[in-house]
Amino acid sequence: MSARPRSPRFATQAIHAGAAPDPATGARAQPIYFTNGFVFDSTEQAADIFAMRRTGFSYSRGSNPTVAALERRVAALEGAKAAVAVSSGQSAVLLVLMTLMKSGDAYVASPRLFGGSLGLMRRLDGRYDLKPQFAGGLSPEDFEAAITPETRAIVCESIVNPCATVMDLEGIAAVARRHGLPLVVDNTLASPALIRPIEHGADIVVHSTSKFLGGSGQTIGGVICDAGSFDWTKAGHYNLITEPWPDYDGLVVSERFPEISFAVACRLFGLRDLGPGLSPMNAFLTLTGIETLPLRMQRHCANARAVAAYLKDHPKVAWVSYPGLPGQAGEELAARYVPQGPGSIFTFALKAGEPAALTFITSLELISHLVNIGEIKSLAIHPATTTHRQLSAEEKSAACVGPETVRLSVGLENVEDLIADIEQALDRVD
Ligand SMILES: *Cc1c(COP(=O)(O)O)cnc(C)c1O
Repeated sequence: MSARPRSPRFATQAIHAGAAPDPATGARAQPIYFTNGFVFDSTEQAADIFAMRRTGFSYSRGSNPTVAALERRVAALEGAKAAVAVSSGQSAVLLVLMTLMKSGDAYVASPRLFGGSLGLMRRLDGRYDLKPQFAGGLSPEDFEAAITPETRAIVCESIVNPCATVMDLEGIAAVARRHGLPLVVDNTLASPALIRPIEHGADIVVHSTSKFLGGSGQTIGGVICDAGSFDWTKAGHYNLITEPWPDYDGLVVSERFPEISFAVACRLFGLRDLGPGLSPMNAFLTLTGIETLPLRMQRHCANARAVAAYLKDHPKVAWVSYPGLPGQAGEELAARYVPQGPGSIFTFALKAGEPAALTFITSLELISHLVNIGEIKSLAIHPATTTHRQLSAEEKSAACVGPETVRLSVGLENVEDLIADIEQALDRVD
C-alpha cells in the first residue's frame, strides 16, 4: 500500500471540506457568526479591505465566516476554485447573467429549464435587454446553431427540472470552447454527488441549495461556483472582469485574481452592489445538510428508480420520463453522465389527462402536494398549473410539461410505503 497523500474522497469532503474546529473555542460544529460587522485592527486594514488590497471580513452582506465555510465546501465538492453563496437559487442564476452581461448582450439557453429560470430570462429580456437565445433542441448542434456575434454564454441544466433529461455536457462544452464562450451549468437536480459539471467542461456551476444540498426543505439558498478555467481576457466582452473598477482604485479583477476572477466579480457586483447575501443561519443549515449528501443521493436514486419502474408498468400511466430505466429516451446519456442514477425528480403522465393528474395529486396521503424538490420527504406537483403556468403552450411542450403531467420528487421514506401511497392514489383515478 502506498502512503502517498491524496486529496480526500467525496464523502470525506462532504463532511470536512471548508470547515475545521473553531480556533477560538474548539467548537466542532461550524459556529454561526451572527454579526453584521467585523472590528478592524487599524484604519489601514479597514482601507485595505475596502480597496480590495487585502482580504478580510468587513460586513456580512459581502462575506461572513459561516457563509464562507459553505462556499469553501461547495467549491471543494464541485472541484471549483471559488464559490459565492447567495440568498436563493434564483439569485444565483440572476447574478451569473448580470455579472456576465450588459444590455444588448445575449446568451444561448437550453429550451428545457426550470420554470423560474425561464420566467427570469423573459423579464431580463423585456426590461434589461439581456437576450435569451433558446436552442432549437437539446443536442450540442442545436446549441451551436443558436450562437450569434452577441452571444456571451451558454446556459443549461445538468439534469433538467422537471423531466430528468440528462444533458450532453461534454458536447455542449465543446461547442462553448469552439466559440470562446463560458458554459454555465445549473447542477441543482444532480448535486455534485451525481455529476461534477466542471469535470465535463463547465466554467460556472450554479445551485439552488434549497434542494438536495440542504436536503431537508428547511431553507432557501444558492451557490455560484467558478471553475477558474475560462480566459475572460481573451474574449474581451466581460467588462466587470477585465476592465478597471474606478471605485476600487482601478482594480482589474482578472489581473488581481486571475484564478477566481468570475467569483470575485460576482461578489463585488452581485453581493456588494445588488445585495442578495445568504444568512449565516441558512449557511449553517445547508452545511449540515451537505454532510449527508452522498448517502442521501444513493437512496434518492434507488427509491426513484423503483417508483419509476412501478409507474412505467401501471395501466393508467401513459409514460414515465426517467432515463435511469432501461428503454427510456436519453438512457445512453444518463448511463454515461450519471451511473448512480439521474436523481429523484421526474415526470410521468396519466392516460386520462389533466383531471386524472389532479385527482392523483390530491389523493396522495404520504407524499406531500408542494412545490419544492430534492427533500428527504417525497413530494408531488402539477407543473402545468403551478411551476410552469406562466409559460406559453409552446414553451410548455419544449419543457415537456403537459396538462396530463405530474412531477414527483422521490424522498427517503421506505419505498414500499411510497409505492403503496401511489397505488392507492392511482386507484382513485379514472
Ligand atoms: C429551484 C431551482 C432554482 C431556483 O432556486 P430557489 O432556491 O428556489 O430560488 C433554480 N434552478 C433549478 C434547477 C431549480 O430546481
